[in-house]
Amino acid sequence: MGEIIDLKGMLKELDESVRDELKTAPEVVDSGTTLDISKLPIEARRWLKVSGVFAVVADLKGSTKLGTGKRAASTASIYEAGTGNIVKIFNRFDADFIAIQGDGALALFWDEQCFERAMCAAITIRTFSADFSERLEKKWPDSPETGFKVGVAEGRLLVKRVGTPRNPNEQEPIWAGKAVNYAAKAAQAADRHQVIVTGSVWDLVEKNDYLSISCGCPSGPSLNIWSNVEIKNLPDGEPEAQGRMLFAGWCELHGPQFCQAIMDGEKKRDDVAHLRAEVQKSQFGNLLAEKARKARELRHLGPR
Ligand SMILES: [Zn+2]
Repeated sequence: MGEIIDLKGMLKELDESVRDELKTAPEVVDSGTTLDISKLPIEARRWLKVSGVFAVVADLKGSTKLGTGKRAASTASIYEAGTGNIVKIFNRFDADFIAIQGDGALALFWDEQCFERAMCAAITIRTFSADFSERLEKKWPDSPETGFKVGVAEGRLLVKRVGTPRNPNEQEPIWAGKAVNYAAKAAQAADRHQVIVTGSVWDLVEKNDYLSISCGCPSGPSLNIWSNVEIKNLPDGEPEAQGRMLFAGWCELHGPQFCQAIMDGEKKRDDVAHLRAEVQKSQFGNLLAEKARKARELRHLGPR
């Protein structure tokens, strides 16, 4: 026989802790754009507020169809070679926080070069995804179609460590705020080998020639690597829902140079000045996108 569970007592205790939590507002400390995750409080009812955090979520397509029966070996390999390598990519771009979530992974980037690191990681996952699924399909032609769907969002987050005091194994930072949720929704809305960025992430992408305009292979630099997308699973009227979708990965020829330029903080390319104005115009004519852009501009004038 197992030990006796005092269910009634447990539920009463939980209810009392909810009551106590709601009695007084927790303290929120502004941490600016930086954060030392090792110093997060666990017992104190204190949350830290971090601004300008980029969240990247990579989701494995078709993972619900991966079985553990006859196909256990292929399922295990797909997870190991898939999720394991996504974490490697996040690490390579110095993600400030990484969590494996189900069949995918979440990374957060804050502080220096956070936008650049997040975008380079996202595009690298997109590039890796195509090679990854090609290899899988060769080895297991009858396995379900798979590959990574990527979402990127940005915003302010609240964070606190929760779990069992004095047992680090049972503690985890929890993140509250739209960026994590919206990145996950953007990833869900994508197909495999696609990166979807929310509205305010696009506002930054369009200011960087290396991200917004293709390298030019094979027929000259163009804007057709991105298209408008409405992230339908976000709340109605949310300006972030008017996002953009990237189809392309790093070019085999120019990718290394572009990635380095972005990480070095470069933004302008000499060869594409004529296309730069077109980038902003590329959302014109799409009334929803234009309205959302104005709403984001106004939002960004106020507190973030
Ligand atoms: Zn190229």
